[in-house]
Amino acid sequence: MLSYIAIGSNQNKPIQQAEQAIQALKALPNTQLLKCSSLYCSRPMGPQDQPDYINAVVELDTQLSALHLLDELQKIEQSQGRIRKETRWGPRTLDLDIILYADQSINSDRLTIPHYGMKTRAFVLYPLFEIAPHIKLPDATQLSQLIALCDKKELIKTSDLDHSCSADQLNKK
Ligand code: ATP
Ligand code: MG
Ligand code: MG
Repeated sequence: MLSYIAIGSNQNKPIQQAEQAIQALKALPNTQLLKCSSLYCSRPMGPQDQPDYINAVVELDTQLSALHLLDELQKIEQSQGRIRKETRWGPRTLDLDIILYADQSINSDRLTIPHYGMKTRAFVLYPLFEIAPHIKLPDATQLSQLIALCDKKELIKTSDLDHSCSADQLNKK
């Protein structure tokens, strides 16, 4: 099954966190990592008194079920020091969300697929568009339609930032 995973980090060297997560995703059982977007820098959603985020999206080909995949993603989050706090959308070392899983729609206690926020989040849509510009959602919406409606705002590819940008500086902002 083709599945798309959104990566986000804004704590403890976010660029390294994202790169480490990509290595961990490559090592998942019965799974191949096929594509990986550039790393992007975005302003935080929700509470503004936290550092900017590093975001990326990867394409996996996996034989894991969606729930088993979620278990594996949560293990990776834990192993990279994710601490779940009360505050929604607070700072985190690593967030791994399943954006799409084949053409399935899933609504269970632990999983909503497509991810409920994907249609409006620039930091998900633009990296996804970079690696899969022609995909459709299970409801037949074209990704390109969502992109046309979604302001890129302050989303920047890290490769377009000036050379002085580093994860540490992001953390000091
Ligand atoms: P948001 O979901 O708004 O991006 P978040 O990623 O910070 O916020 P988490 O604390 O990482 O939220 O996850 C909360 C719960 O969301 C998880 O325990 C998981 O069961 C559930 N969840 C539902 N759908 C998904 C999905 N598609 N991908 C990952 N987690 C999901
Ligand atoms: Mg999330
Ligand atoms: Mg999450």
